[in-house]
Amino acid sequence: MGVPTAYGPSTPVDSRLVDRSLAHVRPRSFWLDSTPDPDGTSSRGSDASGLRHADLIVVGGGYTGLWAALQAKERDPSRTVVLLEAVTIAWAASGRNGGFCDASLTHGDENGKRHFADDLDTLKRLGLENFSAMRDTIERYGIDAEWEDVGMLQVATEPHQIAFIEELAADNGEVFLDAEATRALVDSPLYRAGVHLREGISLVHPVKLAQGLRRACESLGVEIHEHTRATGLRRSGDGSMVVQTDAGEYTAPRVALATNGFRSLVRRADFLVVPVYDYALMTEPLSAEQLGRIGWQGRQGIGDSSRQFHYYRLSADNRVLFGGYDAIYHRGGRIRNSQDQRPATFRLLADHFFRTFPQLDDVDFSHAWGGAIDMSTKLVAHISTAYGGQVAYAAGYTGLGVASTRVGAQTMLDLLDGRDTELTQMPMARKLPFPIPPEPIAYPAIQVARAAVARSDENGGRDGLLLRAMGAFGIGFDT
Ligand SMILES: Cc1cc2nc3c(=O)[nH]c(=O)nc-3n(C[C@H](O)[C@H](O)[C@H](O)COP(=O)(O)OP(=O)(O)OC[C@H]3O[C@@H](n4cnc5c(N)ncnc54)[C@H](O)[C@@H]3O)c2cc1C
Repeated sequence: MGVPTAYGPSTPVDSRLVDRSLAHVRPRSFWLDSTPDPDGTSSRGSDASGLRHADLIVVGGGYTGLWAALQAKERDPSRTVVLLEAVTIAWAASGRNGGFCDASLTHGDENGKRHFADDLDTLKRLGLENFSAMRDTIERYGIDAEWEDVGMLQVATEPHQIAFIEELAADNGEVFLDAEATRALVDSPLYRAGVHLREGISLVHPVKLAQGLRRACESLGVEIHEHTRATGLRRSGDGSMVVQTDAGEYTAPRVALATNGFRSLVRRADFLVVPVYDYALMTEPLSAEQLGRIGWQGRQGIGDSSRQFHYYRLSADNRVLFGGYDAIYHRGGRIRNSQDQRPATFRLLADHFFRTFPQLDDVDFSHAWGGAIDMSTKLVAHISTAYGGQVAYAAGYTGLGVASTRVGAQTMLDLLDGRDTELTQMPMARKLPFPIPPEPIAYPAIQVARAAVARSDENGGRDGLLLRAMGAFGIGFDT
């Protein structure tokens, strides 16, 4: 039996408060719901009159696909690029995320030390270079992504996490904050320590970022065909790749697959990621007086430090986005709209929100949503090729893809262009992660791993036998 934890079952919030706060939520991503498509482009159907043959076909219209298309054109403006998207641009993870733009390519330092210790310095540098190149691109194309250089306040809510915060502060050359100093920045009775990480973490508006990238792509001549689902891939007699879609065939010598946790067109890539659902709530806008009750003048993004962690942040209009903790793998391992809503998780998140900020017990939630992240066993993206180097794929960001998708895209282009670069030498481009067993084994195996992670949090962060054994094989479980 573990000790009671800040978010454990022993201290739930009054259920009437949870009921009231969730009574009027809209079941949709706040970002997608509140951001009109300024050009009305996403309502167009499949573009039957557009190009059917291109130099590069990109499949998938989230951040990975948009970055791939944009950078392909920047490298060679004469190259023709068509992007095929099954639904609409950024309707999936790229339109539903927390908007934490984190330079890390290793899913944080701790995971980096675990899996990529020998290359960690290089990967950190490449991550920071990518982060500043991303910011430059956003400025260059005049993208209003609501980029905020506010950093992230990493907090300890359990005694055993204080040592982790000390180590994080030392590794990043930042000041360790005790409970009082942390609560002076943002006031939660749960905070025991914190560190404000200021380099390489910003906040963005996820959908405005995607819309801006879309416009940048189109300004360079990328053709975007929405409502066009790729259904198969083969090599034709003349050596070019044929992408079969529900709107006919497309051909190109090179294809970049940016399909995240959706079924891959390359069979072996299908065993490298599973869709795990992450859920989030958004509050109504806080008044100045409500915000004043908890401080938070610096607008930092906040993350706590359990294996099952929460992330939260302010929007431009001072709503609080509160998400994470419950990583749900749905039986069958597919992405389905019916899985976007999970009342049990929303109740849990609301309960945790009021434990974190009991001062905000008069606040209601306006939006509740979920989305699939592409979990891989090393918790980072892998980038690889198929069909003799004519097809590249990048997936596996495991919930940290806002910035690293740009690197995934860039590495795919390097591989497709036959370039040997620092990116193609990264460990995640040289070696594929441990595969995930297919169903029906996947569901029970992932449930067991989830339970082990929850137990680790309850046991002062000490991993049990199963997690230690998984670690020995280079396998992680996280969002
Ligand atoms: C709730 C939530 C919170 C998150 N929070 C953060 C965060 O704060 N910070 C962070 O860094 N990351 C976060 N992430 C993760 C981040 O959103 C993703 O890593 C990132 O958006 C992945 O981008 P992508 O382009 O690879 O995938 P997606 O955005 O999922 O795009 C993939 C696209 O491919 C299309 N597609 C798939 N198959 C086909 C096909 N056969 N034919 C045509 N099109 C196809 C899909 O329709 C989809 O549009 C979060 C994710 C979720 C769900």
